[in-house]
Amino acid sequence: MSPWSVQPRTDGPGDEDLRMIPRWSMILATVLFIAMQYVFHVVMPHHKHELLPLRIMMGYAWGTLVASYALMLGYVSRDAKRRGMPVGMWMLVCVVGTGGIGAVVYFMLRQPILSRCPNCSTEIAAGDHFCSQCQFQMSPVCGLCHRGVKITDVFCTQCGHDLAEDNAPARLRVYSDQ
Ligand SMILES: [Zn+2]
Ligand SMILES: [Zn+2]
Repeated sequence: MSPWSVQPRTDGPGDEDLRMIPRWSMILATVLFIAMQYVFHVVMPHHKHELLPLRIMMGYAWGTLVASYALMLGYVSRDAKRRGMPVGMWMLVCVVGTGGIGAVVYFMLRQPILSRCPNCSTEIAAGDHFCSQCQFQMSPVCGLCHRGVKITDVFCTQCGHDLAEDNAPARLRVYSDQ
């Protein structure tokens, strides 16, 4: 995909985390929870020695387990998309990997979140200091060795360069001129 075909993101950056669990997975979680109650209280054969509190507890435990599975699937579907990973493949891994193994594999192997360059909308990995297409500065860097620095640093922690000598962009100077 060429960087010029990327459409600017329509949603704001702040409310992204709130919508990480899609509605379909919340509905699926509710349905599965109710279904587990049905299984434990209606479908399973009732024995005389079986106590009702145990039945309620088991129904609740299994219901919570399958419901959280559905929520996790929903999260992975959104999370994989914003990291530029194949969504269908990873959802399949999470379903097939029983006991949450698939999810563990996913969280170990997932790629950093992609953000967009404010200047040209190119997708940029979380740790990148500059845009790969237009050289837009994404985070404060040392003017001499170009390693990442904190905006409150006066000198580079890697090479000792006086950061005040750099022509920092105006948006970074706002924080440093206190
Ligand atoms: Zn750019
Ligand atoms: Zn440096």
